[in-house]
Amino acid sequence: MDIVDPEHRSRMMARIGPRHTKPEMVVRSLVHRLGFRFRLHRRDLPGRPDLVLKRHRLVIFVHGCFWHRHEGCLNCTTPKTRTAFWLTKFAQNVARDARTTRALRRAGWRVVTIWECETERPSSVERRLLRVLRREPRPSIRAPVTS
Ligand SMILES: [Zn+2]
Repeated sequence: MDIVDPEHRSRMMARIGPRHTKPEMVVRSLVHRLGFRFRLHRRDLPGRPDLVLKRHRLVIFVHGCFWHRHEGCLNCTTPKTRTAFWLTKFAQNVARDARTTRALRRAGWRVVTIWECETERPSSVERRLLRVLRREPRPSIRAPVTS
C-alpha cells in the first residue's frame, strides 16, 4: 500500500532521502574521532558530498542501500507495487551517482562510498577509511619532466 502520495514521494525522491541520517552521523563521528577535519555537503562540489576532507582531496558519500541500490544487499529491495516507476527512479539514481563520481574524479577528488549497512560495523568502516587516508592523494597536476 502506498502511504505517501505520488507528488510528495517524487519530492522525497528528488533529494534521495533525508540529510543528516543516522548512518551519516555514524560516519561523521567516526571521522571526527580519528582526528580528520571535514566539511559537510559542500554545494560547490558535484553531488554535494556528505563529507569533504579538503586536505586529503577526499569526499565521502554515505549512501542508503535502498535509494542508491547497494547490489546484493538485503536492504536493496524493490517495492511490489508500481514496480516500473521505482525501477526507473532507481536507474536514475544510479546513473546520477556514476556521473557525480566521474565529475569529482576528473576534478582530482578521491571518492569513497560507504553503504548504510556498512555503518552497522563502524570498525570495518574505520579500517577502510584509514587505508584511504594514509595514502597521500595523487597530485592532480604532475610536475613537468625536465631532461
Ligand atoms: Zn547495503
